Amino acid sequence: MMTPSDIEFDRRHIWHPYTSMTQPLPCYPVTSAHGCELHLEDGRQLVDGMSSWWAAIHGYNHPALNQAVTQQLSAMSHVMFGGITHPSAVALCQRLVDITPEALECVFLADSGSVAVEVAMKMALQYWHARGEKRQRFLTLSNGYHGDTFGAMSVCDPKNSMHSLYQGYLPEHLFAPAPQCAFGDEWNEMDFVPFARLLSAHHQDIAAVILEPIVQGAGGMRFYHPRYLKLVRAACERHGILLIADEIATGFGRTGKLFACEYAGITPDILCLGKAITGGYMTLSATITTRNVAETISNGEAGCFMHGPTFMGNPLACATAVASLDILASGEWKTQVAAIERQLQQELLPLNDHPQVKQARVLGAIGVVETHKAVNMANLQRYFVDQGVWVRPFGKLIYLMPPYIISAEQLTKLTRAVSMALDQAEHFLD
Ligand SMILES: *Cc1c(COP(=O)(O)O)cnc(C)c1O
Repeated sequence: MMTPSDIEFDRRHIWHPYTSMTQPLPCYPVTSAHGCELHLEDGRQLVDGMSSWWAAIHGYNHPALNQAVTQQLSAMSHVMFGGITHPSAVALCQRLVDITPEALECVFLADSGSVAVEVAMKMALQYWHARGEKRQRFLTLSNGYHGDTFGAMSVCDPKNSMHSLYQGYLPEHLFAPAPQCAFGDEWNEMDFVPFARLLSAHHQDIAAVILEPIVQGAGGMRFYHPRYLKLVRAACERHGILLIADEIATGFGRTGKLFACEYAGITPDILCLGKAITGGYMTLSATITTRNVAETISNGEAGCFMHGPTFMGNPLACATAVASLDILASGEWKTQVAAIERQLQQELLPLNDHPQVKQARVLGAIGVVETHKAVNMANLQRYFVDQGVWVRPFGKLIYLMPPYIISAEQLTKLTRAVSMALDQAEHFLD
């Protein structure tokens, strides 16, 4: 039970993601969640359109995931990873090595997506240090998002992540314009020219290119052409520069492929995974690299890779991730994601004719409605809750990325709520 004074305590004392302590936005108390529904304190049930930020792909309170947690809990919930290994970590890493491209062999487990990105960037820096070359810059794309820690933030879109706040403190990396050629558009060779120019001009200083393959998530929910990614891979190859693919949002089936890199048929040198890795149960991430990168780092001056979080390889998280990957291994996600994609296309793409809508777009189990004007988040969120759905828009983006197990009726409830909100734009758009 949460009393009004609990809610008041929350307002006074608890930070939520990207919120203010002086003007906090309303928070909705959730007391349990089952399948595709969040249960509010006041008894209302909301259809979940967010998968708790890409993570809860199998829905909430999944019996197999619950069982994995309970079973691991009765053996041990945690043990340090320094000098110790355990069955759940090995089982998880075996599966990760199996399902990712063949060249990716060496797995570093960490506790969040941002840390997986830090680890990837440190791997790239240590790789070049070991090779006796001073290369410390990263090349990335505008509109990217890679996390909130300093290293990750330094490669996020400079405007979206307020680089001006940290000017002089953040390293200054190289930003190519975001790809303009959308997924499904006809490819236009000009789209890659700015990236190619930047790479040629700076290749001697660049340690790695880092990007989100195919789908740029929190930096704009944009879907770009696979050809672009293919050309990035080839250009990195030509200059001997490492490619880091951040699949923290796209990984584990969300885009219709198990990993978005498959759309371009490419293998990165370093791959970052997180979010859905445990089916949304616990925080866990993985950074996977090639034997060449791993051995080069290990033969360098430091003699090892210089990173080791306290909760590295947490057994509860690893066991849950194994159970989640076992569910994915049945392959059912492919039919589920394809069905969600078809339905999102049918129910969201007609909004392209709506006067308030700049563009509606769909890829895999991701549906995005980009509006001309910014949304009033608090008002729109309240409206969605009143409609019985959980959708959390930001900026000019109203988007859906439901659990793969969502029913057609539940999904219609989500898309209908979005359409209805757009018809009352005067209340919800600034
Ligand atoms: C969410 C996200 C991250 C950061 O993950 P956290 O677990 O929030 O630290 C990094 N990269 C991408 C692409 C993401 O979507």
